[in-house]
Amino acid sequence: MALIVHKYGGTSMGSTERIKNVAKRVAKWHDAGHQIVVVPSAMSGETNRLLGLAKEISAQPDPRELDMLASTGEQASVALLAMALQAIGKQAVSYAGWQVAIKTDSAHTKARIRSIDDTKVRQDLDAGKVVIITGFQGVDEHGNITTLGRGGSDTSAVAVAAALQAAECLIYTDVDGVYTTDPRVVSDARRLKTVTFEEMLEMASLGSKVLQIRSVEFAGNYKMPTRVLSSLTDPLMPLEEEAISGTLISFEEDTKMEQATITGIAFNRDETKITVLGVPDRPGIAYQILGAVADANIEVDMIIQNQSVDGKTDFTFTVPRGEYTKAMDVLNEKVKTHVGAASITGDAKVSKVSVVGVGMRSHVGIASQMFRTLSEEGINIQMISTSEIKISVLIDEKYMELAVRALHKAFGLESA
Ligand code: ADP
Ligand code: ASP
Ligand code: MG
Repeated sequence: MALIVHKYGGTSMGSTERIKNVAKRVAKWHDAGHQIVVVPSAMSGETNRLLGLAKEISAQPDPRELDMLASTGEQASVALLAMALQAIGKQAVSYAGWQVAIKTDSAHTKARIRSIDDTKVRQDLDAGKVVIITGFQGVDEHGNITTLGRGGSDTSAVAVAAALQAAECLIYTDVDGVYTTDPRVVSDARRLKTVTFEEMLEMASLGSKVLQIRSVEFAGNYKMPTRVLSSLTDPLMPLEEEAISGTLISFEEDTKMEQATITGIAFNRDETKITVLGVPDRPGIAYQILGAVADANIEVDMIIQNQSVDGKTDFTFTVPRGEYTKAMDVLNEKVKTHVGAASITGDAKVSKVSVVGVGMRSHVGIASQMFRTLSEEGINIQMISTSEIKISVLIDEKYMELAVRALHKAFGLESA
């Protein structure tokens, strides 16, 4: 008997039929003698619908009220799933984040989990109940409901698994594992049986939304065995088969089965580029520009500073699309005259494409192969950034899918 956490995403919870299937699957695991905690997302489209309503009311809704609103999607899901389990004869109880409690900081719409109290959950599990806990939400020290950022139910699930010292966290979704790239963009992408924690962290941070990055961080910090698998298979398929399906995030370098140089291609449409032109090339200039942006709570990603010509230089960096206008305002109002910049320009139609793989450490020539492939497709590279296990380029968004397909092929990642 083991304690196992199941997480079901929006598509998996997308209709009452699908919720009944989730209940059947959960009941199968419970019948096998396991203690099961389920962390579901809102039904697909529901979070978008709620946030859309907020936008109809106000261009800049109060973040606290946004969290009050967005968290209701998950509250509906847990109650429906509890009813579905009860309808097939299982004892089940649902809890909102604050009832558990899942305590977070007060950063509304992007809160971080601080602690999880496992007392009540353990009592219910020991009493033979299936426990269902809302994904995506928590409560701050003042009793306000918070949410964890889009895709945050993954993080709720892994954090709950860590708090309960579960044997495994199973992330059920609408694909049957982690692929070499998004199978919706490259149809012959290949499923990975295992992916190292470091690679998964890079893929998630570079835009692969199959797992929210913070869930991967939790998995790493607590060495929580985490598996991504399909919720769309027959819910009554043999448990032994299901338990080894999908993709396992591995923590040991030498357990990695597939020793390819490149593991996958990630992409992110959520990028914009800003250039501050003609700034004096002197110490402190980067701090003056980026410090002002950071003070406005805007996350900066790629950064380059050009060589100076006649004592002047250009400074280019990227910010997420949602923060583009705010960043431009900050620069125009607080930075431009202060640093003596000639002008500030921006491009909101760029995307980032990255190749990821721990094998890069021991191979040379990956960057040149990547750049050659893009040049053969006539794709201009606007910015480059690298780490030990990834190379990212910023390109015009209209070439993003072409770049992903070409690189996937050039690195031989397709299924046989
Ligand atoms: P859920 O609602 O279950 O959380 P998401 O939509 O958040 O599901 O994440 C699953 C989706 O992630 C898939 O449908 C797929 O399009 C996308 N995805 C992006 N990159 C990858 C990848 N490398 N492997 C698998 N899926 C990926
Ligand atoms: N429902 C939330 C969202 O759509 C959280 C999640 O699905 O993980 O972002
Ligand atoms: Mg998700």
